[in-house]
Amino acid sequence: MNVNQSAPPVPPYGQPQPVYPGYHQSSYGGQPGSTAPPNTYGAYNGPVPGYQQTPPPGVSRAPPSSGVPPASTAQVPCGQGGYGQFGQGDVQNGPSSTVQMQRLPGSQPFGSAPLAPVVSQPAVLQPYGPPPTSAQVTAQMAGMQISGSVTPAPPPSGLGYGPPTSLASASGSFPNSGLYGSCPQGQAPPLSQAQGHSGAQPPQRSAPQQASSFTPQASGGPRMPSMTGPLLPGQSFGGPPLNQPNHVSSPPSQALHPGTQMAGPPGPPPPMHSSQQQGYQLQQNGSFGPTRGPQPNYGSPYPGAPAFGSQPGPPQSLPPKRLDPDAIPSPIQVIEDDRNNRGSEPFVTGVRGQVPPLVTTNFLVKDQGNASPRYIRCTSYNIPCTSDMAKQAQVPLAAVIKPLARLPPEEASPYVVDHGESGPLRCNRCKAYMCPFMQFVEGGRRFQCCFCSCINDVPPQYFQHLDHTGKRVDAYDRPELSLGSYEFLATVDYCKNNKFPSPPAFIFMIDVSYNAIRSGLVRLLCEELKSLLDFLPREGGAEESAIRVGFVTYNKVLHFYNVKSSLAQPQMMVVSDVADMFVPLLDGFLVSVSESRAVIISLLDQIPEMFADTRETETVFAPVIQAGMEALKAAECAGKLFIFHTSLPIAEAPGKLKNRDDRKLINTDKEKTLFQPQTGAYQALAKECVAQGCCVDLFLFPNQYVDVATLSVVPQLTGGSVYKYACFQVENDQERFMSDLRRDVEKVVGFDAVMRVRTSTGIRAVDFFGAFYMSNTTDVELAGLDGEKTVTVEFKHDDRLNEESGALLQCALLYTSCAGQRRLRIHNLALNCCTQLADLYRNCETDTLINYMAKFAYRGVLNSPVKTVRDTLITQCAQILACYRKNCASPSSAGQLILPECMKLLPVYLNCVLKSDVLQPGAEVTTDDRAYVRQLVTSMDVAETNVFFYPRLLPLTKSPIESTTEPPAIRASEERLSNGDIYLLENGLNLFIWVGAGVQQGVVQSLFNVSSFSQITSGLSVLPVLDNPLSKKVRGLIDSLRAQRSRYMKLIVVKQEDKLEMLFKHFLVEDKSLSGGASYVDFLCHMHKEIRQLLS
Ligand SMILES: [Zn+2]
Repeated sequence: MNVNQSAPPVPPYGQPQPVYPGYHQSSYGGQPGSTAPPNTYGAYNGPVPGYQQTPPPGVSRAPPSSGVPPASTAQVPCGQGGYGQFGQGDVQNGPSSTVQMQRLPGSQPFGSAPLAPVVSQPAVLQPYGPPPTSAQVTAQMAGMQISGSVTPAPPPSGLGYGPPTSLASASGSFPNSGLYGSCPQGQAPPLSQAQGHSGAQPPQRSAPQQASSFTPQASGGPRMPSMTGPLLPGQSFGGPPLNQPNHVSSPPSQALHPGTQMAGPPGPPPPMHSSQQQGYQLQQNGSFGPTRGPQPNYGSPYPGAPAFGSQPGPPQSLPPKRLDPDAIPSPIQVIEDDRNNRGSEPFVTGVRGQVPPLVTTNFLVKDQGNASPRYIRCTSYNIPCTSDMAKQAQVPLAAVIKPLARLPPEEASPYVVDHGESGPLRCNRCKAYMCPFMQFVEGGRRFQCCFCSCINDVPPQYFQHLDHTGKRVDAYDRPELSLGSYEFLATVDYCKNNKFPSPPAFIFMIDVSYNAIRSGLVRLLCEELKSLLDFLPREGGAEESAIRVGFVTYNKVLHFYNVKSSLAQPQMMVVSDVADMFVPLLDGFLVSVSESRAVIISLLDQIPEMFADTRETETVFAPVIQAGMEALKAAECAGKLFIFHTSLPIAEAPGKLKNRDDRKLINTDKEKTLFQPQTGAYQALAKECVAQGCCVDLFLFPNQYVDVATLSVVPQLTGGSVYKYACFQVENDQERFMSDLRRDVEKVVGFDAVMRVRTSTGIRAVDFFGAFYMSNTTDVELAGLDGEKTVTVEFKHDDRLNEESGALLQCALLYTSCAGQRRLRIHNLALNCCTQLADLYRNCETDTLINYMAKFAYRGVLNSPVKTVRDTLITQCAQILACYRKNCASPSSAGQLILPECMKLLPVYLNCVLKSDVLQPGAEVTTDDRAYVRQLVTSMDVAETNVFFYPRLLPLTKSPIESTTEPPAIRASEERLSNGDIYLLENGLNLFIWVGAGVQQGVVQSLFNVSSFSQITSGLSVLPVLDNPLSKKVRGLIDSLRAQRSRYMKLIVVKQEDKLEMLFKHFLVEDKSLSGGASYVDFLCHMHKEIRQLLS
């Protein structure tokens, strides 16, 4: 029962963290010496027989949500002893291995029945009730020409939202895009668009001769019917009428409205636009765009847009007009505003239902009872009280949880609490852990569970008096009574087989086939490993890591190495029977680095030489994973496999694959097969790995198709990571690979983990997204979990919620630390509940919504045609916005697009998801790229999806050179580029520098050390190190951006009008994309039309 501090009058949580300061204490808070066990250390120094069969109080009542206990738990009665928390025994972590070093029956591991490709539920495309059928959507789309007139080059099919159109002619000759690490030396096709950059100017804002086309409508209430009139033949649907005088002249009270209102998708900007003023000025207070400009100035400055909307009568002869991009919601402005408004104050988590600052804002968090947004972010912090309301709004209720998130140095890591031999205090019924929301009653002798309302006895050693408010007097001395996040030390009951775990092991498994040797990979890797082994993760200031290491090399056969410290030289053991994999040695395979250093160094020196002359091109893959997993099993520990692999595993062995890449499947009903594994063998293998706590990280070095969709199954299901370095060449890719590897080896990982999310009555977790395995409907099993991976959880109502009590989430993660300690990390979060839809819309977070929607869609492509997935997203978005319009916005003309303030970026971000490579690939995107990105996004946190879908574009030469702050970002559109400047673009995976053709010679010299633009090497990946302010500043910025991201971003220098520029333009996401993706403006118009259709 010790918390980490005892009587000493130090500030409650002031002491250093990782040392578990409290363990030695024998006094339970407030009751010195009462019933404390003499030695609380006993619990984690080894099995204490007396504890093993002590059922927690109330075990006879199983938690209401616990799954059916699997048969194999027979020896551990359900709810009793081990894993009581999760309602079942060691099943989650695999069958209790009674077998050691057992050869697997040949057919068993690989031949078992294939599991579903994804462990959780199949994509449910309509989470909350029936939206219009996709047929309707299709019909709408077929009926319009949204974007045809906007870009000079007519799109192939004229549709912004259709399936990716056949652009093969434009980009089909684009070999390896380099988008995700493919060979950047690939030749890009000539630009298909002649116009290139028009220079610095934003779109021409022509004279207001268009005014007549915006015949003001009669003002008044909604006029939906008239708004949905038929399109004129040949007339592009550009969205709703632009001119909305009724709204434009709206009273100032509009500014207070929570919604963001735009007159017709963005009404005509006021004249200040033509004088180069920022449109942003108008976006304050939630109402933006020209809508507030004085009406008389409504001469349209648009450089010709079609008559937006369906108002008949615009002169057909006028050149097409377009919306003013400055008048529509700007991601840059929203990010900037949030930084300015919320970046200076710490975010204090004491208040229920507070929406945290955006992920793009730097802020500190003070935990005062709710988990930090670094651990949990929600789509909404105010949940509708009833499922009917939720269905009406269609806003997904989801939490993006990063249980082991790394914190900035200024914030303390979770305190570790030791409740002694009886283990963490929990509710007897639902098994929720003690937390600040539990209500103590009867003078402190009992507590009422905040999740299930069950009244529980307070164990004597935990008793404490209550103050006059009913709060325990020791509440602020105990993390579990005052903080949102903390850890409990787990007792042996929480350990597999009722045994405390051994420290984990890392096994490095290196492909030594011809490709790996020839590219220089093996030599580089072996050299690097020598130094990397000194940086294995350690805990709490430990001098050396507890992690043991082992080494395997392979091609068609596997080579195990004995690196026992007593040996003079390493010994190799070859296993050629890959169909029946076993580990040929126990002793000497997994060793401590410090003890076996000399033998390990010798081995790493020898490996490149041993295989230098290999002619073996074929590889196996599944047997490699099998071998690593068996080795961990034999050593009775959890761990991680680092596999370095180069080719499609075509050698005769379990898990053998064939090349089934077929681009012709794109846009067919069979496209989903490209994302599905081609054999069930890997799922079966993953299941075994999870049972053993064996996490797999895969480093791929393909020269061609390797079937990432299949090879990534095991990493994906074991909480591992996949890295891909296409056409790997040491000279080009060394830095990126080394950086990623270093980070991957050093990062702190929790092993053999199980996560459960409990909720208060009324809602429950129904769906999960991420890199994990689930064998029942509640427990998320993670062979490994690092500080970057998130698990996204969707909630649904199963009862009515109460405004007063709100809704509670508790995420409990049971895991083994890098040092082999079994712990529980608890995160609690209280949310508000509402009976008014407006409250829901006021407390949403669009970045989190997009994170959820992207993951939902990316899983959907496994089961549904990609077009269906896209249509579903569009429909859901339209429903969300239509519901707001109908129920929350003040009455106004249907011609106005009205967006909730918190969701005004939903359309632009959703459009980015829709035209991402997974959902709408360009011709240069390979099947492997798509599978790779798909699985990456699955585990991304909100900050990562935010920049991934809407890249950051920074002008490098606009701000004064002395300025030390990061230059302010600009919108991701070609129109924002000036040919006299240089820009940097990054999205977390890719990094570009774009050089305008008109950049001053001096700037070129300072940055590239060449005398003119034409001499800059296109595709350059390293900037020369030059001793001048500009060079230092840009290189410094690149370093800082790389440090912010979880993966090393390789730089590509792109010149304006150069072939490679097409790669760069792919990331200008506000523009129409070559693969047929709509521009932001067009999408907004489309969205408006969808909304109006729903409302009419
Ligand atoms: Zn309970």
